[in-house]
This record gives sequence, structure tokens and C-alpha cells, in this order.
Amino acid sequence: MGPDPGENASLVFFLVIAKPLSMIDTLPKVRGTYTENKILADLTWLRVGGPCDVLFQPVDVDDLVAFLSALNPEIPVFPIGVGSNLIVRDGGIRAVVIRMGRGFNTISIDGNLVTAGVAALDQHVARKAADAGLDLTFLRTIPGAIGGAVRMNAGCYGSYAADVFVSAKAVTRAGEVVTLSADDLNFQYRQSDLPDGWVLVEVTFKAPYGDTDALKKRMDEQLTKRNASQPTKERSAGSTFRNPAGFSSTGSEDDVHDLKAWKLIDDAGLRGFQLGGAQMSEKHPNFMINTGDATATDLEKLGEEVRKRVFKSSGLTLQWEIMRVGEPAEGEK
Ligand SMILES: Cc1cc2nc3c(=O)[nH]c(=O)nc-3n(C[C@H](O)[C@H](O)[C@H](O)COP(=O)(O)OP(=O)(O)OC[C@H]3O[C@@H](n4cnc5c(N)ncnc54)[C@H](O)[C@@H]3O)c2cc1C
Repeated sequence: MGPDPGENASLVFFLVIAKPLSMIDTLPKVRGTYTENKILADLTWLRVGGPCDVLFQPVDVDDLVAFLSALNPEIPVFPIGVGSNLIVRDGGIRAVVIRMGRGFNTISIDGNLVTAGVAALDQHVARKAADAGLDLTFLRTIPGAIGGAVRMNAGCYGSYAADVFVSAKAVTRAGEVVTLSADDLNFQYRQSDLPDGWVLVEVTFKAPYGDTDALKKRMDEQLTKRNASQPTKERSAGSTFRNPAGFSSTGSEDDVHDLKAWKLIDDAGLRGFQLGGAQMSEKHPNFMINTGDATATDLEKLGEEVRKRVFKSSGLTLQWEIMRVGEPAEGEK
């Protein structure tokens, strides 16, 4: 006897209507939010970048710990802050991107120790510290969040995250909570060492004391100065290239870096230089801007062309300061 045709039909029916397993179905149960194929252009200052496999927004540290400890170790994760130092390529990121939100933005002060969750914005930390008579003014004009500030050893006006850093809490890729010292992070010019997949969750700074009114005045002045000299209202990611002589993680007098990337770019005649929708700013030649419709490819190509031409004109090789992550678009591979 042959197979029952009715049975075959129901098998075909089942195959047709069964929903393919989405990646989210394979991930640990969490209290936070998963979003599949989240377009990362929505989460970066330059407004470029394709989708990540999944965006995970944990509710709090326990949620993040539960996620990382139960996640298949073969699945890569990539933490982001507010995306103010990133070019995410047009093909997106093949990983679970982790973005910390409200459960990670508390700021508390004890004596001259300032402890902030990694999602607290630099400017909020600077302002709250100033209200308590503590000087973290250098953070006021940096548009990132505290996790990114530590990861990138962010700094300006002669002070750097490394100068005030005491310790940080992180969750390892295996889901263990650890406390990191400055030695662990090995701060360097605009970078630190953090193993892949580790997520910073909280940072403690030790801030110099200062007078609240004087600190506020200084922050206002810095803001005015920055708005006058940099395209702060445009889509950018801050300085595109490191200053070549550039090593100053202390801001001390014997630790200067006189050779400025913007000057080399200007001297090479590249102020305002444009490829597609990507442009080296007229206002500050080391700021790359998305004038409206730039892709990540346009921005990277512009950067590489600038590096080539600066090398021709000065003999110096510029190093990217903006982090470039992810995959090129299909046609660009
Ligand atoms: C207009 C403008 C001006 C700027 N001026 C300055 C300046 O004066 N000085 C300066 O130093 N920078 C400056 N920047 C660059 C940028 O703001 C800093 O690098 C900032 O610290 C990045 O923080 P973020 O939260 O945006 O990090 P993102 O850009 O989201 O991420 C940067 C890196 O940090 C990692 N990261 C972020 N959060 C975490 C976390 N919780 N755990 C582990 N890793 C994490 C990411 O994986 C990535 O590798 C400027 C940018 C702009 C747009």
C-alpha cells in the first residue's frame, strides 16, 4: 500500500506554515529587549551603518549577566555607547550588539569619587560633578557616554579619562562580573585594552575639587570654543585621525603633541574635500561629516584618499581615530 496522500498533504502544509526559527528564538530568555536586524545607522552619530544580527538592550547588570552567561560562546557580541566614535559599515555587524540604556545611567558621588553607569552621558557626569564641586569639566563637551569615554580614553583640553580613572566594573563574555584597574585597561592615546566581548557597566573617577561657579563658567567657555571651531551640529564622529606626534594620555607639560592632523589635512589642500556625501569639514578639516546621503563606504573611501594625499604632501601616515567596524555592503566585498 502507498503512503496516505492526506498525511503527505499535512506534512507539506506544516512545512509551508512553520515559521523559520529567528535568531532571537535561539537566544537566552532575558528581561530586556531584543530587536532583530536593527539598522545601526539609527544609533550612530554619522548616521551610517547596516543591520546587526540582533540588538540587545539589557534592563540592568543582572539581565546582562544572565544573557552573557547563557549565550552560546560562539556568538560574538559588540557593545556600543551612543555611537559618536563609530563608522559602522554598510553591511552591518554579524553579532549581537549590546546597548545599555536607562538601567545603566545612575551617577553617584561620595567625597571626590564619582561613580557613573556606562550609559550616563559624559556631559551629565561633568555637570553633576560640578554641582558637587568636583572637576570633570573635560567631559562636558565630549558627546559620548561613559563606557565609550573609558574604552576610548576620551579627552580634551589637556585631560583624559585615564587621569581620573579609579576602577571599572565589567561583565566578561562568560558573564562574570569583574573589577578592572587602570593597569588592566592599559590606557593609551585614545584607546584602552578590553578583551573582545567584555562589557563595561560602571566606572569610578576620582575628581579634583573645584569651585562650582568656576567649573560651570569653564564648561560654558569650552562649549562656546568648541562650537566655534568644530562642526558640532553636523553628523560627524569627532576627530577622524589621531594627531601624528600624538601621544598624550596625561595632559602634562612634557607630554605634548604639537603636530595636528587637521593642519596636515589643511596643508594638503583637503579642507572641504568631498567624495559623494562625505566631506572633510570646512570648519575643522579633521572632522569628517555626512552631508546627508553618505554611505559608510563613502566615508571610508574619503578617509583613505585623505591618508594617501597627506602622505604624498607630508610623508606622514595618518592613523584612523574613528573606529570602523562591521562588514562592507554585498557589492563592496
Ligand atoms: C562632535 C564630536 C566631538 C568629539 N570630541 C571628542 C573629544 O574632544 N575627545 C575625544 O576623546 N573624543 C571626541 N569625540 C569622539 C567620541 O565622542 C568619543 O570617543 C566617545 O568617548 C565615544 O563614546 P560613545 O559612547 O559614543 O562610544 P561608541 O562610539 O558607541 O563606541 C566607541 C568604542 O567604545 C566601545 N564601548 C562603548 N561602550 C562600551 C561599553 N559599555 N563596554 C565596552 N565597550 C564599550 C565600543 O565597542 C567602541 O569600541 C567626539 C565625537 C563627536 C561626534
